[in-house]
Amino acid sequence: MADKRDYYEVLGLQKGASEDEIKKAYRKAAKANHPDLHPGDKQAEARFKEANEAYAVLSDPDKRAKYDQFGFAGVDPNFAASAGAGGFSGFGDLGDIFGDIFGGFGGFGGFGGQNRQQTRTGPRRGESLRVRLTISFEEAAFGCKKDVNITRVDQCPDCKGTGCAPGTTPEVCPDCRGTGTVRTQQRTPFGVFQSSGPCPKCSGSGKIIHSPCPKCRGNGSIRAQKKLNVTIPAGIDDGETVSLRGQGNAGLNGGPAGDLLVQIQVRPSPTFQREGSNLYMSTDLSFVRAALGTEIQVPTLEGPVSLNIPEGTQTGSVFRLRGKGVPNVRTGVKGDQFVTVNLVTPKNLNRKQKELLQELADISGEKVRKKRKL
Ligand SMILES: [Zn+2]
Ligand SMILES: [Zn+2]
Repeated sequence: MADKRDYYEVLGLQKGASEDEIKKAYRKAAKANHPDLHPGDKQAEARFKEANEAYAVLSDPDKRAKYDQFGFAGVDPNFAASAGAGGFSGFGDLGDIFGDIFGGFGGFGGFGGQNRQQTRTGPRRGESLRVRLTISFEEAAFGCKKDVNITRVDQCPDCKGTGCAPGTTPEVCPDCRGTGTVRTQQRTPFGVFQSSGPCPKCSGSGKIIHSPCPKCRGNGSIRAQKKLNVTIPAGIDDGETVSLRGQGNAGLNGGPAGDLLVQIQVRPSPTFQREGSNLYMSTDLSFVRAALGTEIQVPTLEGPVSLNIPEGTQTGSVFRLRGKGVPNVRTGVKGDQFVTVNLVTPKNLNRKQKELLQELADISGEKVRKKRKL
């Protein structure tokens, strides 16, 4: 294999690395690339296997010496191949390394591919939680900080998720040697059938807890009330979600926690309608002011501004106030505010007003209802 990488290189080590350094480097690589944390990621799986193979050789002083001297040729290719394919049986101290990483012993028989469903002892991501949060129109536009109260599953602080009473450690299940799975052979007239299933002694957990942690009664997790301060970005819109990574339920066997998804509800504004980053509103205007032109005050999110209404403005005219909209939640670029003008016909005119309008009609040659006796 010409493209095979040097084992030291795989683990990011120098040739003279100490046992401890090798262990540490492997732990890091295994944790970063574990297939259960990257479902379906072929590259991570390949890196994981590569790290396993490198560790299997470098952690064994005899094999390491041969590798140092002869390179890959010094290492039994079958040995290397079986390590790469996920055959872990026999590498005694891999177990405690994984135990260290994932809070549970072993249980990695599954990553070869055939047994992927068997992940009871492997790390599992915690569930994500969803809460609703209602904020005002202005809070959505400007952004805000809000407290949300949630109940979630947290890792037990007393036992750090192991489920064991402080000062005790779980026993590796002797029946399944920590894998959580047992294979059974059945002889039948048609041949020998092998099947595997969860270990009955440890219920598939791979470990036996003799003195359970009193706080969590051996579960390793507790339900906890939490108050979280959530930062709502400016420009968020109704129905959008703010995710807080890792604030959901705790993971299992050292898996990462789920997320907290805060779904935002925005109360409507009495003044503005919002579409994306733009705001829409309408305002009434007397026909006289529209005819002669004027300046009006219109509300914006940042307070009233004056808007120039040119002479001869028609009803339904739309004016744009640039940059007076809501910022885009991702880019921060503000939208515009659109003001629609509704012309209002004057009512309840007094005598003088009516006379003037009559005169206007006469001058313009417009026919109006015959003047009543005033
Ligand atoms: Zn506990
Ligand atoms: Zn067992």
